[in-house]
Amino acid sequence: MDIDLLTIPKADCLMGMIDDAERIVVCAHRSPDGDALGSSLGWAGYLRSQGKDPLVCVPDMFPDFLQWLPGAQSIVRYDKHPDIVTQAMAEADLIFCLDFSQEDRLGDMALALSQSKADRIVIDHHPSPTIPTKMLISQPKLSSASEVVFRVIWQLGGFGHLTRQDAVCLYCGMMTDTGGFTYNSAASELFFIISQLLTKGINKDKIYRNVYHNFSEGRLRLTGYVLYEKLQVFAQHHAAYFTLTRQDLRRFHYQKGDAEGLVNMPLQMKGIRLSISLREDTEHDQLIWVSLRSVDDLSCTKIAEKYFNGGGHLNASGGRLNCTMAEAELIARKAIEEL
Ligand code: 5GP
Ligand code: MN
Repeated sequence: MDIDLLTIPKADCLMGMIDDAERIVVCAHRSPDGDALGSSLGWAGYLRSQGKDPLVCVPDMFPDFLQWLPGAQSIVRYDKHPDIVTQAMAEADLIFCLDFSQEDRLGDMALALSQSKADRIVIDHHPSPTIPTKMLISQPKLSSASEVVFRVIWQLGGFGHLTRQDAVCLYCGMMTDTGGFTYNSAASELFFIISQLLTKGINKDKIYRNVYHNFSEGRLRLTGYVLYEKLQVFAQHHAAYFTLTRQDLRRFHYQKGDAEGLVNMPLQMKGIRLSISLREDTEHDQLIWVSLRSVDDLSCTKIAEKYFNGGGHLNASGGRLNCTMAEAELIARKAIEEL
């Protein structure tokens, strides 16, 4: 494979900036997913191979099925330790922002970032970056921030130093952002990258099981309940939505992350091209978290922007509504009827 195929514009400049930085922070977005954690931990591994000692921080809790990631235990949560994160960001020379490029995706942690005078570097794959940076490595066509990180490391000549643990993290990020390589994952370079990660001795089947076959009983029963009782199908519009109320969540002993992936399931139905999940926040009233998934060229980004105060990728987006569930359902129906 031609190494140039993996080239990321501007990434070469990173070397000098990393060399010059004494204190480095790596951070990712709120409700961190496999890619947010995988890209952050993989990148932190690279920085360590360069003699640095980065602090990895995230705004809040991450799901049980990602706790096994190598290095996850050393991640500092802002909701638990705001002082540590604020101080680390204040004292940092360089802050890497992984898997997000809009400040509001940090929740309350955005304050710590905005107060810091450190240079910021974004490494991401989300469209429409707005966060001010010293350097923006934005690759919206790529599968995941973890893939961007791999390419940058490859380009900087750092692949040889990558450990098996780093490779596990990057593979996990690519896998989770593509639904186990079932969408947004048709580029041949991605499989070249996977083949390289496999040379580090990662066990891809075990990584899959750790993430996708690691449900609590409540999570599995919640899936059954949603599909049996909650799914609203609009066959003529090729769409479906479901709601998860606080009462539903309590009934199935909901833990953070338990609803993740549920929104993909309606797409398994013949003819369904759009799926919407409406989930009540467990603490705040009138806050509904929205997830959208679509197939082919049906843009859920546009629907998320127009109806749900959000955005995201072509086939996977999210947003939020400040209203009751009944009102949220009306909005979802309107979005579907407009298809
Ligand atoms: P999920 O459904 O997994 O929460 O989100 C799917 C994708 O939508 C995420 O990868 C993220 O990029 C995007 N997303 C989720 N919430 C928001 C939001 O509030 N704003 C924007 N711009 N993107 C979001
Ligand atoms: Mn991502």
